[in-house]
Amino acid sequence: MLLFLSTIAVPSISRVNLLAKPSFFTTLRRFQLPHKYSTRSVSCVHNRTSKRDGDVVVLGIETSCDDTAAAVVRSDGQILSQVVSSQADLLVKYGGVAPKMAEEAHSQVIDQVVQEALDEAYMTEKDLTAVAVTIGPGLSLCLRVGVQKARRIAGGFNLPIIGIHHMEAHALVARVIEKDLQFPFMALLISGGHNLLILARDLGQYIQLGTTIDDAIGEAYDKTAKWLGLDMSRSGGPALEELAREGDAKSVSFSIPMKQHKDCNFSYAGLKTQVRLAIESKKIDAKIPISSASYEDRLSRADIAASFQRIAVLHLEERCERAIDWAMKMEPSIKYLVVSGGVASNQYVRARLDTVVKKNGLQLVCPPPRLCTDNGVMVAWTGIEHFRVGRYDPPPPAEEPEGFVYDLRPRWPLGEEHVEGRSEARSLRTARIHPSLTSLIQASMQQ
Ligand code: ADP
Ligand code: MG
Repeated sequence: MLLFLSTIAVPSISRVNLLAKPSFFTTLRRFQLPHKYSTRSVSCVHNRTSKRDGDVVVLGIETSCDDTAAAVVRSDGQILSQVVSSQADLLVKYGGVAPKMAEEAHSQVIDQVVQEALDEAYMTEKDLTAVAVTIGPGLSLCLRVGVQKARRIAGGFNLPIIGIHHMEAHALVARVIEKDLQFPFMALLISGGHNLLILARDLGQYIQLGTTIDDAIGEAYDKTAKWLGLDMSRSGGPALEELAREGDAKSVSFSIPMKQHKDCNFSYAGLKTQVRLAIESKKIDAKIPISSASYEDRLSRADIAASFQRIAVLHLEERCERAIDWAMKMEPSIKYLVVSGGVASNQYVRARLDTVVKKNGLQLVCPPPRLCTDNGVMVAWTGIEHFRVGRYDPPPPAEEPEGFVYDLRPRWPLGEEHVEGRSEARSLRTARIHPSLTSLIQASMQQ
């Protein structure tokens, strides 16, 4: 059912990959390949037409935030299994992700989640071609659990390992479901922790058109839901979307963020404050759950929910409109805007963005909700895309030494900022730990 598309100028067997060691060529030559794809397969790894779709089977592991997820995916786009264990109870208890608790929860379920993904796919580790794992961005403590598990499997079964950028995975998973989705395309990635607008020029080549200067839209949904006393057991977004259907979206007036900034960046902290003040002025008591609220109380909460949602999404619409303009100047052949990440499950968000995209002659691609929220399929798929062009690391040693320092990238930009997109507000908080994925790949291609 899948695609195959990228027009990337492929380097000769490259390690482009994701650990910053320059000695990959030597490493690769010494590295004994598992018999499944042996030297013959590797020598043709760059000749993508000669490699049959479905030859490569990758286990993907994701633990960057609060979901422990694993999946097995084949290179023809077949999803062989998908398992997600979420930490809903912890979210309710702590009102957000508490890193130490989240790490513990990942550690408790990671073995089971991975085993279930293999069982559901009717496979053992020996049937895999490679292991892909999210190495950033995300919470270090949480990333570590997934990386440790992935390296144990890869080391134990002599499998190559592919370090994955979480946001690239959110964007590329759309290529599993939309076979015509070729580069270049645009993507709006919206979740609890991220708000990113990108131009994907090719595999591994991204330009950041906009990002958030403070909170992401999902965080604003979650806080608003919490303050309105909604059921947080599936995170706040879905509950707020449901309640908003009962309300009048023009009843409470909130202002659209960053109107005066003619760029594509986002801000949701101010809108959160506006919502909190409106809730206080209407004397809504979050301790009374919505299920026990009176008719009037429920209606007044629904009005706030609907008004918040309208403005939160208008902010997305305005930024997308401008980003399409910028992107079309750089890549006039763009046909698609991908919307992914947890908030892309929202029907109102999809409908409004569909209008914007159609008006500009493009098509919207939204993965189904189970592929929008954090999942292992997106990690496995992104692993397949990179593996097929030779970007992977050799198997780690079967026994990792005590105290081994993992390559984790909690703050890791996907691409360089578009010049027009640089905002003064952002420059104050752009301290980086890692060079962007795109710059690493470009550097390795020049080697
Ligand atoms: P992360 O855990 O990195 O934030 P996810 O992609 O799992 O990433 O997204 C979770 C976020 O998506 C949460 O903030 C949640 O409230 C939001 N979300 C999920 N479904 C919806 C929805 N229907 N409407 C709005 N937000 C939603
Ligand atoms: Mg999540």
